[in-house]
Amino acid sequence: MSRYHFFDFSLEDLGDFLVEQGEKRFRATQLYKWVYGHKVQDFSQMTDISKSFREKLPDLFDFSLPPVVSDRTSVDGTRKFLFDVGDGDTIEAVLIPSPGRLTLCLSTQVGCNMACKFCFTGKMKMKRRLKAHEIVGQFLQADRLLGSDQRISNIVYMGMGEPLDNPENVLTSIQIFNTTIGIGLSRKRITVSTSGLVDRIPLITESGARLAVSLNGVNDEVRSQVMPINNKWNIKELLDACVEHCRITKDKVTFEYVLLKGVTDSIEDARQLYKITRRVPCKINIIPFNEHPGSGFSRPSDSQVVRFQEELMKLGAHVLLRRTKGRDIYAACGQLTSAHKEHPQTMPVQ
Ligand code: SAH
Ligand code: SF4
Repeated sequence: MSRYHFFDFSLEDLGDFLVEQGEKRFRATQLYKWVYGHKVQDFSQMTDISKSFREKLPDLFDFSLPPVVSDRTSVDGTRKFLFDVGDGDTIEAVLIPSPGRLTLCLSTQVGCNMACKFCFTGKMKMKRRLKAHEIVGQFLQADRLLGSDQRISNIVYMGMGEPLDNPENVLTSIQIFNTTIGIGLSRKRITVSTSGLVDRIPLITESGARLAVSLNGVNDEVRSQVMPINNKWNIKELLDACVEHCRITKDKVTFEYVLLKGVTDSIEDARQLYKITRRVPCKINIIPFNEHPGSGFSRPSDSQVVRFQEELMKLGAHVLLRRTKGRDIYAACGQLTSAHKEHPQTMPVQ
């Protein structure tokens, strides 16, 4: 009999599955508490579970996690994990410490089909969608490797891949992270970032997670040039979907806006950005482009980045400048790739 990945099951699905196996539904709750709550996988320790059921567990479930093939920490504390997901493929997750928070950035696919021009992952066609157990596995492995005084407080789906091109597994993983008797992370501490698959944004709304949208252009001409998805759903349609999300959830959307020198970074762009996003309750996260070989784009000067930010602030936007983290270990936004062999061990920090 083939075994099922334990970390693919939401609590409800696990209950259904156990009932199908002739077991009681409450066993699902017991297992969730042990495995996720107490972090115990040694069945003999699960003392409130009957011995006969415990004996069946190894035949029913596969509890394996994607092996960690590399674990490196940047000079700024950012820590990047590389996981082996089979077939010679690897994916990355990044832990980002900040005051009062420890955020884990997760991958959802091997590669990405959205082909955004400035993104390293986008250079690679999507090879495979990750299963829920591989998404949850990134969290469990990172958590296992943390010191006892550290705990992951936030999750962002901003690693490799487009989460809404893999909605089923992403939504199951959100349910697993969120289950109170298990990992118990509040939905408000989970953010899903999308390049703008407009028809699927309601799935994020329903999930209760926060929504981030990669905008990266202030008019359709520029946005289509850097993000081909804009040819399918334009800026107006995207912003309409954001307004609807905010109306239902009473949340704010985070707009990510990458500053590409000479393409998206002028003061006029800042004014336009304010103008088009004004109708959406939002925060704007500006991200200076992280350079990678052969991208054809460059990073604006620090002074231009500050001018851009100040213009938005002057207009009254809620704007954050995302400081580049982990560049020395190739862990910054848009630098993740499964072709890790191409990566130099370190990258000069500019
Ligand atoms: N696919 C999703 C989530 C992963 S990308 C999305 O596109 O939203 C996470 C963020 O990194 C996106 O906002 C994207 O615009 C940004 N990004 C991609 N490449 C980058 C680069 N080279 N420098 C800075 N930001 C980049
Ligand atoms: Fe894919 Fe996001 Fe990169 Fe675009 S920015 S190619 S959607 S990972």
